[in-house]
Amino acid sequence: MKIDVLTLFPEMFEGVFGASILGKAKDKGIVSLQAINFRDYSNNKHNTVDDYPYGGGGGMVLKAEPVFAAVEDLKPEPNVKPRVILMCPQGETFTQKKAEELAREEHLVLICGHYEGYDERIREYLVTDELSIGDYVLTGGEIPAMTIIDSVVRLLPGVLGNETSAVTDSYSTGLLEYPHYTRPAEYRGWEVPDILLSGHHANIDVWRRQQSLLRTLRRRPDLLEKAELSDKERKWLKEAAAQEGIEWKT
Ligand code: SAM
Repeated sequence: MKIDVLTLFPEMFEGVFGASILGKAKDKGIVSLQAINFRDYSNNKHNTVDDYPYGGGGGMVLKAEPVFAAVEDLKPEPNVKPRVILMCPQGETFTQKKAEELAREEHLVLICGHYEGYDERIREYLVTDELSIGDYVLTGGEIPAMTIIDSVVRLLPGVLGNETSAVTDSYSTGLLEYPHYTRPAEYRGWEVPDILLSGHHANIDVWRRQQSLLRTLRRRPDLLEKAELSDKERKWLKEAAAQEGIEWKT
């Protein structure tokens, strides 16, 4: 996969692209990550990329020319149409499902805004998607872009050492993940559930699935509406919900 980020602050990506899972994915050649300063595509002698808004009002607006020029200068592989994604608090909320969808692409281009807004023609005529990482406003699109890149790259085959670890992650299954424990078996008098020490893998799988259901019921009952559940699990959840005093419609 190829990922290009258009930003006014490429230096912000140096640490993130070089460390941990992203750094390893890059070293293994699974992903190529590039931060491009679109100020280099400014068409005026002062290298400005923003201007005053038509109609007046506060704040500056990111100009269309440098962003279009930077995107048009990218060199996609023949027959590859990059997804051009605008970081934008007004966009579709980014989810694990979206990360899975983007992980199937060959080339992503992420545009990081700054200032009050974008020239609307970027939104209308250049990008294929607008993504928000949540209902709050950050100073720029760099941290949202890092968030999206991290969650997409860890899904690429060969990136995570243990392939199953992404499969059981919260949201991948439609549920929240079950609780984890490691040694010691007793810490300050708090014990690891016996079942996990039993060595009985089939029973452990059942326990984990139930814990996952219970945790989702307690914390994010909204997710259960779309989750794939067997009739037995629905019945079990109904009883658990009644016991916990949680309202849940099967
Ligand atoms: N005035 C804009 C509005 O009300 O929608 C917010 C502009 S914000 C200060 C500057 C830039 O940060 C945005 O253009 C976008 O690239 C990025 N940004 C801020 N919050 C974001 C979020 N929740 N998700 C994605 N990008 C965000």
